Amino acid sequence: MKSQPPDSSGFARLFSSDYLQARSRFTLAAEGLGIPCHRQSIPHPLAGPDGERLSLDYAWIGNPDAPRVLVTQSAVHGVEGFAGSAIQLDQMLERSGQTLPGELAVLHIHAVNPHGFLNCRRVNEDGVDLNRNFVDFSQALPANPDYDLLRTSLIPENLSDWERASKRLADYERDWGSTRFHQAVSGGQFNDPQGPFYGGAKPAWSREVLEGLFVDLKLASRQRIAVLDLHTGLGPYGYGELICDHPPGSEGVKMARRWYGANVAEPALGTSSSVPKLGLIDFAWQRAFGDRVCFLTLEFGTYPFAELMESLRRDHALHKSFSSQTEPGQLEQVRQSMMRHFNPPATDWQEAVISRSRQVIQMALDGLSSEELK
Ligand SMILES: [Zn+2]
Repeated sequence: MKSQPPDSSGFARLFSSDYLQARSRFTLAAEGLGIPCHRQSIPHPLAGPDGERLSLDYAWIGNPDAPRVLVTQSAVHGVEGFAGSAIQLDQMLERSGQTLPGELAVLHIHAVNPHGFLNCRRVNEDGVDLNRNFVDFSQALPANPDYDLLRTSLIPENLSDWERASKRLADYERDWGSTRFHQAVSGGQFNDPQGPFYGGAKPAWSREVLEGLFVDLKLASRQRIAVLDLHTGLGPYGYGELICDHPPGSEGVKMARRWYGANVAEPALGTSSSVPKLGLIDFAWQRAFGDRVCFLTLEFGTYPFAELMESLRRDHALHKSFSSQTEPGQLEQVRQSMMRHFNPPATDWQEAVISRSRQVIQMALDGLSSEELK
Protein backbone atom coordinates (compact mmCIF):
# COMPACT_ATOMS: atom_id res chain seq x y z
CA MET A 1 0.00 0.00 0.00
CA LYS A 2 1.17 3.52 -0.84
CA SER A 3 2.55 5.39 2.14
CA GLN A 4 0.35 8.25 3.30
CA PRO A 5 1.38 11.91 3.46
CA PRO A 6 1.56 13.39 6.96
CA ASP A 7 -1.54 15.12 8.33
CA SER A 8 -0.32 18.60 7.37
CA SER A 9 -3.88 19.95 7.06
CA GLY A 10 -4.85 18.61 10.49
CA PHE A 11 -7.98 17.10 8.91
CA ALA A 12 -7.14 13.52 9.91
CA ARG A 13 -7.41 14.52 13.56
CA LEU A 14 -11.12 15.25 13.03
CA PHE A 15 -11.78 11.53 12.42
CA SER A 16 -12.53 9.79 15.70
CA SER A 17 -11.34 6.29 16.49
CA ASP A 18 -14.75 5.07 17.64
CA TYR A 19 -18.35 6.13 18.27
CA LEU A 20 -17.80 7.07 21.92
CA GLN A 21 -14.98 9.44 21.08
CA ALA A 22 -17.02 10.91 18.22
CA ARG A 23 -19.98 11.61 20.49
CA SER A 24 -17.89 13.13 23.23
CA ARG A 25 -16.08 15.43 20.77
CA PHE A 26 -19.41 16.46 19.21
CA THR A 27 -20.77 17.33 22.64
CA LEU A 28 -17.69 19.29 23.69
CA ALA A 29 -17.59 21.22 20.41
CA ALA A 30 -21.28 22.15 20.75
CA GLU A 31 -20.73 23.30 24.33
CA GLY A 32 -17.67 25.35 23.35
CA LEU A 33 -19.24 27.18 20.40
CA GLY A 34 -19.49 30.51 22.17
CA ILE A 35 -22.73 31.37 20.37
CA PRO A 36 -26.34 30.35 21.17
CA CYS A 37 -26.66 26.58 20.76
CA HIS A 38 -29.28 24.18 22.06
CA ARG A 39 -27.88 20.68 22.48
CA GLN A 40 -29.75 17.52 23.34
CA SER A 41 -28.97 13.86 23.77
CA ILE A 42 -31.69 11.27 23.09
CA PRO A 43 -30.77 7.97 24.77
CA HIS A 44 -30.99 4.77 22.74
CA PRO A 45 -32.89 1.92 24.46
CA LEU A 46 -29.91 -0.46 24.20
CA ALA A 47 -26.45 -0.19 25.72
CA GLY A 48 -23.25 -1.38 24.06
CA PRO A 49 -21.68 -4.77 25.00
CA ASP A 50 -19.65 -3.13 27.78
CA GLY A 51 -22.54 -1.01 29.02
CA GLU A 52 -21.70 1.96 26.78
CA ARG A 53 -24.44 4.59 26.63
CA LEU A 54 -25.72 5.18 23.12
CA SER A 55 -27.59 8.23 21.94
CA LEU A 56 -28.64 10.35 19.02
CA ASP A 57 -27.40 13.87 19.72
CA TYR A 58 -28.22 17.12 18.07
CA ALA A 59 -27.06 20.71 18.22
CA TRP A 60 -29.28 23.57 17.06
CA ILE A 61 -27.07 26.57 16.41
CA GLY A 62 -28.51 30.08 16.09
CA ASN A 63 -32.01 31.54 16.23
CA PRO A 64 -34.56 28.91 17.39
CA ASP A 65 -37.16 30.50 15.08
CA ALA A 66 -34.97 30.99 12.00
CA PRO A 67 -36.93 30.59 8.74
CA ARG A 68 -33.92 29.06 6.93
CA VAL A 69 -32.29 25.94 8.32
CA LEU A 70 -29.29 23.90 7.23
CA VAL A 71 -29.38 20.31 8.53
CA THR A 72 -26.57 17.76 8.49
CA GLN A 73 -27.11 14.09 9.41
CA SER A 74 -24.34 11.62 10.25
CA ALA A 75 -24.25 7.83 10.66
CA VAL A 76 -27.62 6.93 9.17
CA HIS A 77 -25.48 3.96 8.12
CA GLY A 78 -23.63 3.52 11.43
CA VAL A 79 -20.09 2.77 10.22
CA GLU A 80 -20.26 5.70 7.78
CA GLY A 81 -20.46 7.99 10.79
CA PHE A 82 -16.71 8.44 11.09
CA ALA A 83 -16.65 10.80 8.11
CA GLY A 84 -20.02 12.40 8.91
CA SER A 85 -19.03 13.08 12.49
CA ALA A 86 -15.65 14.51 11.36
CA ILE A 87 -17.49 16.89 9.00
CA GLN A 88 -19.85 18.04 11.76
CA LEU A 89 -16.95 18.52 14.18
CA ASP A 90 -15.02 20.52 11.57
CA GLN A 91 -18.03 22.77 10.97
CA MET A 92 -18.44 23.49 14.66
CA LEU A 93 -14.74 24.11 15.30
CA GLU A 94 -14.33 26.29 12.19
CA ARG A 95 -17.41 28.41 12.86
CA SER A 96 -16.96 28.63 16.61
CA GLY A 97 -17.65 32.17 17.84
CA GLN A 98 -19.16 33.25 14.50
CA THR A 99 -22.71 34.49 14.96
CA LEU A 100 -25.19 33.39 12.30
CA PRO A 101 -27.60 35.87 10.67
CA GLY A 102 -30.94 35.87 12.52
CA GLU A 103 -32.74 34.28 9.56
CA LEU A 104 -30.44 31.25 9.51
CA ALA A 105 -29.93 28.30 11.86
CA VAL A 106 -27.81 25.16 11.58
CA LEU A 107 -28.91 21.78 12.94
CA HIS A 108 -26.33 19.00 13.21
CA ILE A 109 -27.89 15.59 13.92
CA HIS A 110 -25.13 13.31 15.20
CA ALA A 111 -25.27 9.49 15.00
CA VAL A 112 -28.76 8.86 13.66
CA ASN A 113 -27.91 5.15 14.04
CA PRO A 114 -25.66 5.05 17.11
CA HIS A 115 -25.82 1.25 17.52
CA GLY A 116 -24.45 0.69 14.02
CA PHE A 117 -21.80 3.35 14.57
CA LEU A 118 -20.61 1.71 17.82
CA ASN A 119 -20.45 -1.72 16.19
CA CYS A 120 -19.01 -0.57 12.85
CA ARG A 121 -22.00 -1.94 10.95
CA ARG A 122 -24.16 -0.27 8.31
CA VAL A 123 -27.37 -1.60 9.82
CA ASN A 124 -29.05 -0.85 13.15
CA GLU A 125 -29.68 -2.97 16.25
CA ASP A 126 -32.26 -5.09 14.37
CA GLY A 127 -30.21 -5.62 11.23
CA VAL A 128 -32.27 -2.95 9.48
CA ASP A 129 -30.89 -0.59 6.87
CA LEU A 130 -32.32 2.65 8.19
CA ASN A 131 -32.05 4.20 4.74
CA ARG A 132 -34.62 1.68 3.41
CA ASN A 133 -36.92 1.92 6.47
CA PHE A 134 -38.94 5.01 5.46
CA VAL A 135 -41.81 3.17 3.76
CA ASP A 136 -45.48 3.13 4.75
CA PHE A 137 -45.71 0.01 6.92
CA SER A 138 -49.52 0.17 6.94
CA GLN A 139 -49.48 -0.74 3.23
CA ALA A 140 -48.21 -3.84 1.40
CA LEU A 141 -44.41 -3.64 1.45
CA PRO A 142 -42.59 -3.13 -1.84
CA ALA A 143 -41.35 -6.27 -3.59
CA ASN A 144 -37.86 -6.82 -4.99
CA PRO A 145 -38.15 -10.13 -6.88
CA ASP A 146 -34.62 -9.85 -8.28
CA TYR A 147 -33.23 -9.74 -4.72
CA ASP A 148 -35.15 -12.93 -3.94
CA LEU A 149 -33.36 -14.63 -6.83
CA LEU A 150 -29.94 -13.52 -5.51
CA ARG A 151 -30.62 -14.18 -1.85
CA THR A 152 -28.85 -17.53 -1.42
CA SER A 153 -25.91 -16.31 -3.46
CA LEU A 154 -25.45 -13.19 -1.34
CA ILE A 155 -25.43 -15.11 1.94
CA PRO A 156 -24.99 -18.85 1.21
CA GLU A 157 -26.20 -21.56 3.59
CA ASN A 158 -22.64 -22.64 4.41
CA LEU A 159 -19.34 -20.81 4.52
CA SER A 160 -17.84 -23.61 2.40
CA ASP A 161 -20.12 -22.49 -0.47
CA TRP A 162 -18.75 -18.91 -0.42
CA GLU A 163 -16.64 -19.03 -3.59
CA ARG A 164 -19.37 -20.73 -5.64
CA ALA A 165 -21.90 -18.18 -4.37
CA SER A 166 -19.60 -15.31 -5.35
CA LYS A 167 -19.25 -16.80 -8.82
CA ARG A 168 -23.05 -17.01 -9.17
CA LEU A 169 -23.32 -13.32 -8.20
CA ALA A 170 -20.77 -12.39 -10.86
CA ASP A 171 -22.80 -14.36 -13.42
CA TYR A 172 -25.98 -12.48 -12.46
CA GLU A 173 -24.20 -9.16 -12.87
CA ARG A 174 -22.87 -10.18 -16.28
CA ASP A 175 -26.29 -11.44 -17.47
CA TRP A 176 -28.42 -8.61 -16.04
CA GLY A 177 -26.09 -5.68 -16.55
CA SER A 178 -24.84 -3.38 -13.86
CA THR A 179 -27.96 -1.25 -13.23
CA ARG A 180 -30.41 -4.12 -12.77
CA PHE A 181 -27.89 -5.98 -10.63
CA HIS A 182 -27.17 -2.99 -8.37
CA GLN A 183 -30.87 -2.29 -8.00
CA ALA A 184 -31.57 -5.93 -7.10
CA VAL A 185 -28.83 -6.00 -4.47
CA SER A 186 -28.94 -2.52 -2.97
CA GLY A 187 -32.32 -1.07 -3.97
CA GLY A 188 -33.87 -2.35 -0.75
CA GLN A 189 -35.70 -5.55 0.26
CA PHE A 190 -38.30 -6.52 2.85
CA ASN A 191 -38.17 -10.34 2.71
CA ASP A 192 -34.77 -11.22 4.14
CA PRO A 193 -34.10 -9.88 7.66
CA GLN A 194 -30.66 -11.49 7.67
CA GLY A 195 -29.56 -9.98 4.39
CA PRO A 196 -28.11 -6.58 3.50
CA PHE A 197 -30.30 -3.58 2.54
CA TYR A 198 -33.23 -4.95 4.58
CA GLY A 199 -35.83 -2.24 5.21
CA GLY A 200 -37.40 -3.80 8.34
CA ALA A 201 -40.97 -4.67 9.36
CA LYS A 202 -41.80 -1.51 11.34
CA PRO A 203 -40.48 2.02 11.82
CA ALA A 204 -37.06 1.82 13.50
CA TRP A 205 -36.17 3.66 16.74
CA SER A 206 -34.06 6.15 14.77
CA ARG A 207 -36.94 6.88 12.41
CA GLU A 208 -39.30 7.58 15.30
CA VAL A 209 -36.75 9.86 16.94
CA LEU A 210 -36.09 11.74 13.71
CA GLU A 211 -39.79 12.22 12.96
CA GLY A 212 -40.22 13.38 16.58
CA LEU A 213 -37.55 16.02 15.98
CA PHE A 214 -39.53 17.33 13.01
CA VAL A 215 -42.26 18.25 15.53
CA ASP A 216 -40.13 19.26 18.54
CA LEU A 217 -37.99 21.59 16.46
CA LYS A 218 -41.03 23.02 14.65
CA LEU A 219 -39.47 22.30 11.27
CA ALA A 220 -42.85 22.59 9.53
CA SER A 221 -42.86 26.32 10.29
CA ARG A 222 -39.59 26.96 8.37
CA GLN A 223 -39.57 28.42 4.89
CA ARG A 224 -36.47 26.70 3.50
CA ILE A 225 -34.62 23.63 4.73
CA ALA A 226 -31.40 22.30 3.21
CA VAL A 227 -30.50 18.78 4.32
CA LEU A 228 -27.13 17.16 3.71
CA ASP A 229 -27.12 13.48 4.64
CA LEU A 230 -23.50 12.35 4.99
CA HIS A 231 -22.53 8.90 3.65
CA THR A 232 -19.48 6.97 2.50
CA GLY A 233 -18.60 3.85 0.54
CA LEU A 234 -20.04 4.35 -2.95
CA GLY A 235 -18.45 6.01 -5.97
CA PRO A 236 -14.93 7.07 -6.94
CA TYR A 237 -12.32 7.22 -4.16
CA GLY A 238 -12.34 10.57 -2.35
CA TYR A 239 -15.05 12.16 -4.50
CA GLY A 240 -18.08 13.60 -2.71
CA GLU A 241 -21.09 13.13 -5.00
CA LEU A 242 -24.28 15.11 -4.36
CA ILE A 243 -27.11 12.66 -4.94
CA CYS A 244 -30.61 14.05 -5.48
CA ASP A 245 -33.58 11.70 -5.06
CA HIS A 246 -36.26 14.37 -5.44
CA PRO A 247 -38.58 13.37 -8.33
CA PRO A 248 -37.19 14.53 -11.72
CA GLY A 249 -38.47 17.99 -12.60
CA SER A 250 -39.73 18.71 -9.06
CA GLU A 251 -39.11 21.91 -7.10
CA GLY A 252 -36.58 19.95 -5.00
CA VAL A 253 -34.48 19.23 -8.08
CA LYS A 254 -34.78 22.83 -9.27
CA MET A 255 -33.63 24.11 -5.90
CA ALA A 256 -30.72 21.64 -5.90
CA ARG A 257 -29.67 22.91 -9.34
CA ARG A 258 -29.92 26.54 -8.23
CA TRP A 259 -27.77 25.94 -5.19
CA TYR A 260 -25.28 23.28 -6.29
CA GLY A 261 -25.31 23.59 -10.11
CA ALA A 262 -23.73 20.78 -12.11
CA ASN A 263 -22.63 18.94 -8.94
CA VAL A 264 -26.07 17.35 -8.65
CA ALA A 265 -26.46 13.71 -9.77
CA GLU A 266 -29.86 12.06 -10.16
CA PRO A 267 -30.30 8.28 -9.78
CA ALA A 268 -33.68 8.44 -11.56
CA LEU A 269 -31.89 9.78 -14.65
CA GLY A 270 -28.97 7.35 -14.41
CA THR A 271 -26.45 10.14 -13.76
CA SER A 272 -25.41 8.99 -10.28
CA SER A 273 -23.18 6.31 -8.73
CA SER A 274 -26.38 5.33 -6.93
CA VAL A 275 -29.45 3.59 -8.40
CA PRO A 276 -33.07 4.47 -7.42
CA LYS A 277 -33.89 2.96 -4.01
CA LEU A 278 -36.85 2.12 -1.77
CA GLY A 279 -37.62 3.63 1.63
CA LEU A 280 -34.95 6.35 1.68
CA ILE A 281 -34.73 8.76 4.60
CA ASP A 282 -35.04 11.51 1.95
CA PHE A 283 -38.69 10.57 1.47
CA ALA A 284 -39.56 11.39 5.11
CA TRP A 285 -38.23 14.93 4.66
CA GLN A 286 -39.90 15.29 1.26
CA ARG A 287 -43.26 14.05 2.62
CA ALA A 288 -43.08 16.34 5.65
CA PHE A 289 -41.85 19.56 4.05
CA GLY A 290 -42.69 19.32 0.32
CA ASP A 291 -41.28 22.09 -1.83
CA ARG A 292 -39.62 23.79 1.14
CA VAL A 293 -36.91 21.16 1.55
CA CYS A 294 -33.91 20.38 -0.60
CA PHE A 295 -32.53 17.03 0.57
CA LEU A 296 -29.25 15.78 -0.85
CA THR A 297 -27.03 12.86 0.05
CA LEU A 298 -23.35 13.74 0.13
CA GLU A 299 -21.74 10.38 -0.64
CA PHE A 300 -17.96 9.97 -0.47
CA GLY A 301 -16.53 7.20 -2.60
CA THR A 302 -13.94 4.79 -1.23
CA TYR A 303 -13.11 1.48 -2.94
CA PRO A 304 -14.84 -0.47 -5.75
CA PHE A 305 -18.38 -1.85 -5.38
CA ALA A 306 -17.07 -5.43 -5.48
CA GLU A 307 -15.08 -4.76 -2.29
CA LEU A 308 -18.11 -3.17 -0.66
CA MET A 309 -20.14 -6.29 -1.45
CA GLU A 310 -17.51 -8.67 -0.10
CA SER A 311 -17.29 -6.80 3.22
CA LEU A 312 -21.07 -6.44 3.57
CA ARG A 313 -21.79 -10.08 2.71
CA ARG A 314 -19.26 -11.28 5.28
CA ASP A 315 -20.63 -8.87 7.88
CA HIS A 316 -24.17 -10.20 7.45
CA ALA A 317 -23.07 -13.82 7.20
CA LEU A 318 -21.03 -13.68 10.39
CA HIS A 319 -23.62 -11.79 12.41
CA LYS A 320 -26.53 -13.96 11.40
CA SER A 321 -26.44 -17.16 9.40
CA PHE A 322 -23.07 -18.42 10.56
CA SER A 323 -23.13 -17.05 14.09
CA SER A 324 -22.87 -20.52 15.62
CA GLN A 325 -19.70 -21.16 13.58
CA THR A 326 -18.23 -17.71 14.14
CA GLU A 327 -15.06 -17.25 16.14
CA PRO A 328 -14.29 -13.93 17.87
CA GLY A 329 -11.29 -13.39 15.58
CA GLN A 330 -13.53 -13.56 12.52
CA LEU A 331 -15.86 -10.90 13.90
CA GLU A 332 -12.91 -8.61 14.53
CA GLN A 333 -11.67 -9.27 11.00
CA VAL A 334 -15.00 -8.32 9.45
CA ARG A 335 -15.21 -5.24 11.66
CA GLN A 336 -11.79 -4.15 10.39
CA SER A 337 -12.82 -4.75 6.80
CA MET A 338 -16.01 -2.69 7.24
CA MET A 339 -13.96 0.09 8.84
CA ARG A 340 -11.48 0.07 5.99
CA HIS A 341 -14.16 0.21 3.31
CA PHE A 342 -16.31 2.92 4.87
CA ASN A 343 -13.62 4.93 6.64
CA PRO A 344 -10.32 4.52 4.77
CA PRO A 345 -7.40 5.18 7.15
CA ALA A 346 -5.75 7.48 4.62
CA THR A 347 -4.91 11.15 5.05
CA ASP A 348 -5.49 11.89 1.34
CA TRP A 349 -9.05 10.54 1.61
CA GLN A 350 -9.73 12.36 4.86
CA GLU A 351 -8.45 15.61 3.38
CA ALA A 352 -10.67 15.19 0.32
CA VAL A 353 -13.71 14.57 2.55
CA ILE A 354 -13.23 17.66 4.70
CA SER A 355 -12.33 19.98 1.81
CA ARG A 356 -15.31 18.89 -0.25
CA SER A 357 -17.69 19.08 2.69
CA ARG A 358 -16.64 22.67 3.37
CA GLN A 359 -17.31 23.53 -0.27
CA VAL A 360 -20.73 21.83 -0.32
CA ILE A 361 -21.85 23.26 3.03
CA GLN A 362 -20.90 26.76 1.89
CA MET A 363 -22.96 26.22 -1.29
CA ALA A 364 -25.90 25.12 0.88
CA LEU A 365 -25.63 28.18 3.13
CA ASP A 366 -25.31 30.52 0.13
CA GLY A 367 -28.24 28.79 -1.57
CA LEU A 368 -30.45 29.03 1.50
CA SER A 369 -29.61 32.71 1.93
CA SER A 370 -30.33 33.49 -1.72
CA GLU A 371 -33.95 32.23 -1.56
CA GLU A 372 -36.59 34.91 -1.12
CA LEU A 373 -38.65 34.65 2.04
CA LYS A 374 -42.39 35.19 1.98
ZN1 LIG B 1 -24.72 5.14 3.33
